Amino acid sequence: PHIPRAKLDHASVVDLDSGSGGLVERTRSVFRSGRTLPASFRRQQLQNLMRMLDDEQETLLKCLHEDLRKSKHESLVSEIFIVKHQIKKHLSNLGKWMKPEKVPRTLENFFDDLYIYKEPYGVVLVIGAWNYPILVLLAPVVGAIAAGNCVIIKPSELAQATSHALETLLPKYLDNECYPVFTGGPEKTSELLKERFDYIFYTGSSQVGKLIHQAASRYLTPTTLELGGKSPVYVDASANLQLAAKRLFWGKIQNSGQVCIAPDYVLCTKDVQIKLLGYIEKAMKEFFQGTIKNSPDFGRIINQRHFERLTQLLKNQNIAIGGHIDADERFISPTVLIDVQPGDRIMQEEIFGPLLPIVNVSGEDDAIEFINSREKPLALYVFTNNSGTKKKFLERTSSGGVTINDTIMHLVAEGLPFGGVGQSGMGAYKDRASFDTFVHKKSVLSRSYNILGEKIESVKYPPYKEFNTKF
Ligand code: NAD
Repeated sequence: PHIPRAKLDHASVVDLDSGSGGLVERTRSVFRSGRTLPASFRRQQLQNLMRMLDDEQETLLKCLHEDLRKSKHESLVSEIFIVKHQIKKHLSNLGKWMKPEKVPRTLENFFDDLYIYKEPYGVVLVIGAWNYPILVLLAPVVGAIAAGNCVIIKPSELAQATSHALETLLPKYLDNECYPVFTGGPEKTSELLKERFDYIFYTGSSQVGKLIHQAASRYLTPTTLELGGKSPVYVDASANLQLAAKRLFWGKIQNSGQVCIAPDYVLCTKDVQIKLLGYIEKAMKEFFQGTIKNSPDFGRIINQRHFERLTQLLKNQNIAIGGHIDADERFISPTVLIDVQPGDRIMQEEIFGPLLPIVNVSGEDDAIEFINSREKPLALYVFTNNSGTKKKFLERTSSGGVTINDTIMHLVAEGLPFGGVGQSGMGAYKDRASFDTFVHKKSVLSRSYNILGEKIESVKYPPYKEFNTKF
């Protein structure tokens, strides 16, 4: 489905030569015209986006396959359906969420109205990453549109096919003056970031997240940073180890491990490790039956640079399971490593691939100390049947989110906002939290001219009288 660049001439994709300053200014003047404010307009645009996902589903599936060899199942369940669900949720709750929130009156404001007014920020920049090039781009866009903003939409250039498709398709469905698509790599994006935005929503690495934050600080622009990190897994002997292995392995093979909340490494005792390895092997056979390489359900590494980075991480490691590589296809089989040392290179960076190192610890206190000696992760996974252990991990570690006795699933669970903490990000979105992210909550006091109220308050005017009461 490679869409030739020439075809884009007629699409309303931003002409980079006209300068990103012009783009932001134009978009701001559209915002100031008030076009995005009526609920009916927001609804219409969300419905258009839904129509795009319906009409163009086949094209998008082909693009995800071309970029990541993502299976149809994964592409639907973990990208397209989630965005559609977000659209539905925003559509059905829009009236309720937009409504000013009444604040109860107190005696002092007995005759007045107090409320929290949901004001769109203005021009929002949404920057997406390549691993879920539809989900992490469009899910925040849904919230930003629903909240009444104009949005400059910036897909990741590394998911080439999907990015090209989106830059052609989005302008056909969305109001292009309110929601222009901006394309380009780091250089052009750095230029764009010199402009003044009213909100920046970024998904990608912590490294680039710092650059975004720095650029945003020039105008004190509020930002949400959805970043990554090394998400640890702790497994103890009380867990259902067969299910733990299956759920852990499933979490690691999604998108070939290229998931921001993929289980990055396992902490467990040697005894637990022996059993886990057996069960992981069993799960692998169950999932892929024949050879993994021929399975339509297992993806590929996004590009050569990441493929080489991952194969370097395997160097000098003790491979317990897997370790098969095919450079022509950028294929790396799910691989479990044992005897991994905390100082090894694989333990220094987010893996973002199908490699699973196991580091042995003596128990839960040792594991907690290990986790706390590192940056705060985006996710934490604890497999245990022991309620004391669950409580201890929740109380004594910090992470963006937690799933107990599974992996990834807190991202999907209805009603739970999703986001990081510390180096794994700031802010959270999904469901109502998406809408809330993109509105400024303006406190409003609307006073009455009631004579009695004015009389009670007359003490506020000079000439002041002595206070004869204690505060
Ligand atoms: P990427 O290379 O696609 O970069 C993300 C975006 O940043 C792209 O749109 C890119 O054009 C832009 N960019 C890159 N360098 C830039 C620069 N110097 N200045 C301005 N913009 C720049 O994606 P990535 O960063 O490799 O993505 C993988 C990371 O994203 C992982 O760390 C992963 O954990 C994280 N991630 C987080 C989430 C989340 O929701 N928290 C979701 C997906 C991915």
